[in-house]
Amino acid sequence: MDLRWSAEEQEFRREARTWLEANVPRQPLPSGDTRAGFAAHLAWEQRLFAARWSVVSWPEAYGGRDATLWQWLIFEEEYYRAGAPQRVTQNGIFLLAPTLFAFGTPEQQQRLLPRMAAAEDVWAQGWSEPGAGSDLAAISSRAVRDPAGGGWRLSGQKTWTTRGAFCTHLFGLFRTDPAAERHHGLSYLLLPLDAPGVTVRGFQRLDGDEGFAEVFLDDVFVPDADVLGGVDQGWAVAMATTGSERGLTLRSPGRFLHTAERLVRTARAHPEPTGALRDRVVQGWIDAQAYRLFTLEQVTAISEGRPVGAESSLNKLFWSELDVRLHETALELLGPQAELDSPWSRGFLFSLAGPIYAGTNEIQRTIVAERLLGLPRK
Ligand SMILES: Cc1cc2nc3c(=O)[nH]c(=O)nc-3n(C[C@H](O)[C@H](O)[C@H](O)COP(=O)(O)OP(=O)(O)OC[C@H]3O[C@@H](n4cnc5c(N)ncnc54)[C@H](O)[C@@H]3O)c2cc1C
Repeated sequence: MDLRWSAEEQEFRREARTWLEANVPRQPLPSGDTRAGFAAHLAWEQRLFAARWSVVSWPEAYGGRDATLWQWLIFEEEYYRAGAPQRVTQNGIFLLAPTLFAFGTPEQQQRLLPRMAAAEDVWAQGWSEPGAGSDLAAISSRAVRDPAGGGWRLSGQKTWTTRGAFCTHLFGLFRTDPAAERHHGLSYLLLPLDAPGVTVRGFQRLDGDEGFAEVFLDDVFVPDADVLGGVDQGWAVAMATTGSERGLTLRSPGRFLHTAERLVRTARAHPEPTGALRDRVVQGWIDAQAYRLFTLEQVTAISEGRPVGAESSLNKLFWSELDVRLHETALELLGPQAELDSPWSRGFLFSLAGPIYAGTNEIQRTIVAERLLGLPRK
């Protein structure tokens, strides 16, 4: 692994930094998990797209810059460094899109990717159900062959759908063969949230924002053209999406580097901490650097054609626990001020969700134990 950036990469960084410095809103946008905030974020996404920064690593034909994974990481570092808004399109561009590139038909790619890049379609992830979270294969939402042919009829309920109340589309797993074994007989389907038979009900998160939705499906028609990766093949397709969610694309190191640097600034702005608290600030900064190096190693592996696989579970454990530690340390530094509504206190509440979403950390530890360390299943 060569840690030096090439002249071309440095130029890419300079171009990204210049654009972001000139364009990032001076005032932070309201939370993207509220209706008004979501609209403000969409306007930002469209601005990113117009300057071709919304999906830098995608082919130019779909609105990207054909950038390498290294350049994408550079862009992410600059994005967080500039304090740019959270990406409300992330479920589409970071989770569904890599899966579409790997499993989609050319027709699906041409139809869906440009609209996603332009934030015309904003995708929600429809996997969890009231009876299926960690045990995703327990889903009971069904897709039954439409009697007239040419598609499927969906019924069931999805829950914990991030920003589902504001998104336009949903990707999800549905049982297409009720007789099949748990991980078989599932299909990965794509649908618009305004289709007849869909009811979306938003509900509040711990921080009060209406960031979640329940999605009720009552005889919703989905054409064959919107099955991703083949009927009854949904588990394998979904596992590709979870790799993106736990690993590289959803949580690039830029985010934690930025938080760690904010933590150092917060420490310096207060009577500088001493002893154990000072050590925690330093350790948080070192851990963010370690995560960056680990990610660079993974990008090296991908560029050399080596699979990442279950290592994405290690990533997920590391970033989610690091995020909690960084925020806890900041709150301790702030003392009673931490009680006030602030980026640190809101960030802390959200960091608590990290060990839960993208597959809980208990489940990730089991994956690491069994698949990376080769420990026995019982
Ligand atoms: C902020 C946030 C955003 C989310 N966004 C989405 C979204 O957009 N779309 C979506 O589909 N879902 C979403 N989720 C849901 C998330 O994927 C689930 O919460 C997660 O998969 C856990 O499922 P569960 O909540 O049903 O908990 P459960 O599976 O019921 O687990 C409860 C507890 O038991 C533990 N546990 C369960 N099984 C085992 C086991 N075999 N071994 C050891 N421990 C076990 C778990 O680790 C956990 O601590 C989101 C969640 C959060 C917090």
